[in-house]
Amino acid sequence: MRRATTNGICTYCNIEISKNSRSILSHFNCHDRQVIEGTGSATYVLLLVQAKYSPHYWLVVKARADVSMKTIDKFLRDIWLECCGHFSEFSDKNATIPMTRHLTQVISKGHKIEYVYDYGSSTELTLSMIQTINDVDEGQLLILFRNQAPEYACSSCNKKAVAICPYCIDEGEGILCQTCGGQHKCVQEEGEDLLSPLINSPRVGVCGYTGSIDKQIKKYFPKNIL
Ligand SMILES: [Zn+2]
Ligand SMILES: [Zn+2]
Ligand SMILES: [Zn+2]
Ligand SMILES: [Zn+2]
Repeated sequence: MRRATTNGICTYCNIEISKNSRSILSHFNCHDRQVIEGTGSATYVLLLVQAKYSPHYWLVVKARADVSMKTIDKFLRDIWLECCGHFSEFSDKNATIPMTRHLTQVISKGHKIEYVYDYGSSTELTLSMIQTINDVDEGQLLILFRNQAPEYACSSCNKKAVAICPYCIDEGEGILCQTCGGQHKCVQEEGEDLLSPLINSPRVGVCGYTGSIDKQIKKYFPKNIL
């Protein structure tokens, strides 16, 4: 499932940008005049959230300084992770970060904090600060950029894949196009329900994850890009 880096899509205007602080900041600034003029009243952290082992899944989030780690945990579950209520944890150099801490108590520029969802079939993320800004208060969490959905080729025929077989994914042959999905050996034995849809999330194909629920994540977007 490895893939080269993906570009990000701006949630305000759908423009595509590459994943580096310079393009992120300069594009964001062209939308948000208050930031440039320094007239905002709330302090925000621009956070880069990435999947630790598949960093082509990434988000840039505008998180208010007083947001709790618990609220960020809920956000990560809503947008990328929640399958069946597994345990999750933030940590910094292997020390657990309590969920009651606020973001600015635990993060600083140039250092990463880690996050694990599910200690069985783990999905691991890292969070790092791009910059702090003053802005008008727009709530606790807002997604500014989201990675473009990565495209995968079917492991049998190279056409565009649409589904994953959870049994075969670890052997590198469970990524399937529509046609090969229907003919796949595990589907022959257990039926089509076995396959998971190919979702734009680092938890794709893990523990029967079926993706985020539009209603729950709508509040995190300034504009609906789903
Ligand atoms: Zn934009
Ligand atoms: Zn699960
Ligand atoms: Zn195929
Ligand atoms: Zn299979």
